[in-house]
Amino acid sequence: MASFTLHGIPVSRGIAIGRAHILAPAALDVKHYLVPQEQVEAEVQRLQKAIATVHKELQTIWNDLPKDSPAELGAFIDVHALILSDPMIAEVPLDIIRSRYYNAEWALVTQIDELSAQFDEIEDAYLRERKSDIQQVGERVLKVLTGTASTLPSNADGDESVGRMIVVAHDISPADMLQFKDRAFGGFVTDLGGQNSHTAIVARSLDIPAAVGMFNASALIQQDDWVIIDGDAGVVIVDPAPSVLEQYRERQAKLLRDRKKLGKLRKTPAITRDGTPITLLANIELPDDCPGALEAGAMGVGLFRSEFLFMGRTGYVNKLPSEDEQFESYRKAVVAMKGRPVTIRTLDIGADKPLDAAEQTALNPALGLRAIRFCLAEPQMFLAQLRAILRASAYGPIKLLIPMLAHAFEIDQSLAMIEQAKGQLRDAGKKFDPLIQVGAMIEIPAAALTLPLFVKRMDFLSIGTNDLIQYTLAIDRADHEVAHLYNPLHPAVLYLLSSTIAMGAKAGIPVSVCGEMAGDIKLTRLLLGMGLREFSMHPTQLLAVKQEILNSDLGAIAPHMKKILRAMEPSMIMSAVEQLRAEGNPA
Ligand code: PEP
Ligand code: MG
Repeated sequence: MASFTLHGIPVSRGIAIGRAHILAPAALDVKHYLVPQEQVEAEVQRLQKAIATVHKELQTIWNDLPKDSPAELGAFIDVHALILSDPMIAEVPLDIIRSRYYNAEWALVTQIDELSAQFDEIEDAYLRERKSDIQQVGERVLKVLTGTASTLPSNADGDESVGRMIVVAHDISPADMLQFKDRAFGGFVTDLGGQNSHTAIVARSLDIPAAVGMFNASALIQQDDWVIIDGDAGVVIVDPAPSVLEQYRERQAKLLRDRKKLGKLRKTPAITRDGTPITLLANIELPDDCPGALEAGAMGVGLFRSEFLFMGRTGYVNKLPSEDEQFESYRKAVVAMKGRPVTIRTLDIGADKPLDAAEQTALNPALGLRAIRFCLAEPQMFLAQLRAILRASAYGPIKLLIPMLAHAFEIDQSLAMIEQAKGQLRDAGKKFDPLIQVGAMIEIPAAALTLPLFVKRMDFLSIGTNDLIQYTLAIDRADHEVAHLYNPLHPAVLYLLSSTIAMGAKAGIPVSVCGEMAGDIKLTRLLLGMGLREFSMHPTQLLAVKQEILNSDLGAIAPHMKKILRAMEPSMIMSAVEQLRAEGNPA
């Protein structure tokens, strides 16, 4: 096949070279045809074989479950195995093939549609929900029948070729991304997605090259095609010529050498050339990310996105993690960080982080019942999370961070619920840190514009630039069609950012940035110039940012800041920021 190049949005840097592994979309459009009478038994056997393969797949997943995975995960696999063995899946479709001569896929889909319709009628919500389990089991069998890859190949045997595999998909949900955490994949390419969609963020946290917003890459790239991802340029080259491959291999080797050099900075304190210490913190999704954060030299966790404990639990017997399960996760994180502070953000569910894809019904989820709005609407769930976080605070320094606040009453209600949770723990005789610090995410323009409300009530602030940009510029951060409008250097964004940092400093309360801007070395000096002294980012970005800080001189940055913050013309802002970066760096 001739080589071709696709252009998209660069979201995670570096170069990946490997063979494509196509992830099939969840819903399959199957072929419908009638089987000649003499081939009916062969068709029946084809379906039986596919069902047996899925039984084996489920067994393998069950065997490979990490020891610390939630108990519900095992139960969920058991439920799927039971469904697969039930005559309604294991036998009725075979009868359909025999009686109606349908091909295996058609017979299976017919039966699943029939069962789904019956489930819709059921009044009991729990039983009704089992419909999605049946559909998932059906999809698994269909994918085996159609030969479409459905699950990730195991790399438990350390097969090196898996490490070079490039995952190509129409879209990958943040929850699905979690399954990549333990696997050594080379890179990601998706048709959908934007610079700061949560899928992109997880790809960066895995430190593997990725390009998103590729429109129809998953249709154009074939299983096992050779693929190069240039994560810096957002370019994907399919079936490259040998000379191109060679060139990229050299670039890849150089990047690896540069990265090794950065590793030497691990223990070096982050201090500007003129002696100002800067705090570098890690963003994490799960407690297991803590060793990586320590390894990168993080001084603590600036953002623990707790919603990742809640996501992707569709079909579980128990859909939300219990208070105890959460407590164990938070405790694990704070113990792993060995005395360094861990900032746990309360559940920030909604928009591109749905609890369950099937539940996303809001007309405009990014503006809907998400994050703190959802928590205040579900007080029992919120109280359980607050108690779990508070209980973990008895084991090390924890800070509580509330997302998406915009109104004074939301702050007051959140604080009141924290007090209520403390009271419940006191009554139960459970230990916690009574002086736990509580902070607010500043990520809605209204919050940045009414900062005195926050400064008065909160112990610290953390600016979520990802959402602040989304809401200031009215751009869906996950929508590739408007990705070109997502500009962190828009003067309105710079104004909100710099005024928040300045007001926090004036009031004497700590302000950090935990959005993706904090980990972008092109913007490190700009943020230093605004007065930012606390940056929270993926551990993988931390050493490069540290290097930039070590080469920066606050005195040299200061004279440029007025010009940048007053400018309105994007080209002027861009060139001033580039100049800022070039000036302090050694040639
Ligand atoms: C942000 O909005 O910048 C942020 C850090 O939170 P999230 O990306 O999880 O929405
Ligand atoms: Mg946010």
